[in-house]
Amino acid sequence: MPHSWGVIADSLQFAESDAPPASGLDRARQILRHTFGHADFRGLQAEVIGEMLAGRDALAVLPTGGGKSVCYQIPAMMRAGVGLVISPLIALMADQVAGLEQSGVAAARLDSDASLDQRSAVWRRMEAGELDLLYLSPEGLMQGAMLERLARHPIALIAIDEAHCVSQWGHDFRPEYRMLGRLAELFPGIPRLAVTATADARTREDIRQALNLQGAREFVASFARPELRLSAERKQGRGDKRVLELVKARPGRSGVVYCGSRDGADRLADALKGEGVPAFAYHAGLDRKTRAERLIRFMEADEAVIVATIAFGMGVDKPDVRYVIHADPPPAIEAYWQEIGRAGRDGEPAEGITLYSSSDMAWALRRIDQREAPEEVKRGQTRKLRQLYALLDGVSCRAAGVRRYFGEDAVQSCGQCDNCLDPPQSLDATVPAQKALAAAHRLGGRVGRARIVDHLIGKTKDPSPAEAALSTFGIGRELDAKGWRDLIDQLLFEGLLREDPNDGRPLIGLGDGEAVREVYRGTRKLQLRKAAPAAAARQRRRGREEAALPPQSQPLFEALRAWRRQAAADQGVPPYVIFQDRTLAEIALFRPATLTDLALANGVGQSKLDHYGAAVLKVVREN
Ligand code: ADP
Ligand code: ZN
Repeated sequence: MPHSWGVIADSLQFAESDAPPASGLDRARQILRHTFGHADFRGLQAEVIGEMLAGRDALAVLPTGGGKSVCYQIPAMMRAGVGLVISPLIALMADQVAGLEQSGVAAARLDSDASLDQRSAVWRRMEAGELDLLYLSPEGLMQGAMLERLARHPIALIAIDEAHCVSQWGHDFRPEYRMLGRLAELFPGIPRLAVTATADARTREDIRQALNLQGAREFVASFARPELRLSAERKQGRGDKRVLELVKARPGRSGVVYCGSRDGADRLADALKGEGVPAFAYHAGLDRKTRAERLIRFMEADEAVIVATIAFGMGVDKPDVRYVIHADPPPAIEAYWQEIGRAGRDGEPAEGITLYSSSDMAWALRRIDQREAPEEVKRGQTRKLRQLYALLDGVSCRAAGVRRYFGEDAVQSCGQCDNCLDPPQSLDATVPAQKALAAAHRLGGRVGRARIVDHLIGKTKDPSPAEAALSTFGIGRELDAKGWRDLIDQLLFEGLLREDPNDGRPLIGLGDGEAVREVYRGTRKLQLRKAAPAAAARQRRRGREEAALPPQSQPLFEALRAWRRQAAADQGVPPYVIFQDRTLAEIALFRPATLTDLALANGVGQSKLDHYGAAVLKVVREN
């Protein structure tokens, strides 16, 4: 943080001096500082903007929170004409437009929610050449006379947000996106930028084809999200109690809790409410109106917990979500990363915590199996599911695991996930694994986990003479019952054992044949994750949760948040469009005394300084 102050201080002096006419990028940087209040471009922003300013098409894959929007907003402000932004979600557009207006940028939207009056006001501003940015939905753009009407105005550029929606291969195909391919002929010579946060190589190829971007340069950022701290824990029972504990340890913050089922979401939301947490459920079983209301409440709240199924998905761009908790795991690493990616979009530290169990995995496997889909597709889904559980139950850096999964090479450990901070001890458990596999085999897949454990320890109540005579009976005295349960879980995660749900009374049998043989032969070793003394590890972690801001700055930070809540309520906008958490944290830390000092904080541009400067300084003085 301190270094950014220096950079901005330099930039202010530069901006105030009589600088020579700036090159395109220098001018773009000045806008970034003056209007958006950011010290400098990050990641690939400068390169993408350079491409737009040169009038060329581009395709950019930047991680969630990576700052995709300035890539088209700034060039749209610099080039003659209005920049068209095509975005699939109305809620998202409304938010972006409100945020831009706060920063003093001339932006508007035309969507199905707009009244006739609002529409004519927008067109008047277009005629007058006043608008820098116009947000549209794909349906809206392709409607009737819209294109002809737009084509009569100078267009600066066309940005297609969430461009992966055009690909059937991507994870969120939207048929109406297909029509956007026509933009190439309708607006020849106008640079087009396709942006998305998730697109593997195949999806990127699809985007190029569908949007006629054959010649476009491609910018793909790293999947790293250094602000996210990842952790995962095996569930005890259903895991509800642990979720309550985790949420209550993070008071005054907003979070998302993902559940596998509607019932689960309702149940957890009620339990949280019972504990005084401002929580509500969100899933497809609720009517549209309730969902819309809850979404707005969540977006505008300073502190709220939404307990959701995956129906709560794309387009939830609340930048100050401080944690995502998976009460049940998602089906693949793609979904895992996308859902956790909803935390920390403002770049401030945030957490992704996943609870998982071997029965979650068994249930998910069964669901894949029951799907009406070609075998090949099911095999792919099964593989993706197992890769996720291997990541969750694994002992190496989680962030590095995700990045490798997405094809990055030479990835370093993150140094902040649970596995990096408290490396789980592991011990060679190849021999116990052989014993457990042999026992499952001898018992013929007809018993559950508890019976196998009893069998291994020799504690089965009234064993039949046949069972007592098996060579595996009582051979496992090296571990206690908990040790064996953990080991069996791990064998399930690795696919060496398989669970047959058997209507809620799961039976355990042998898994993948070749892998099991390798363990028997001893060519495949098994490392058992040694359960950390849970309380101690949690204690250590809790100490770090509030580490971002020193304790003496906390009261001012909270006072600033309270001021912001009121200012937001007065205007009917979400708090983060006024200032983001990061900005308030910087202010709390550096306690600016004058407007000039305040202008140095990241996220304070000229317009916000004019509007809120005096009020913020007052809060600082009084706290
Ligand atoms: P996304 O790529 O997810 O659409 P946004 O464009 O919404 O991301 O930006 C995410 C956050 O990053 C916003 O809070 C934005 O203000 C901030 N941001 C964007 N560019 C910069 C930058 N160069 N320096 C600091 N913060 C930035
Ligand atoms: Zn790590």
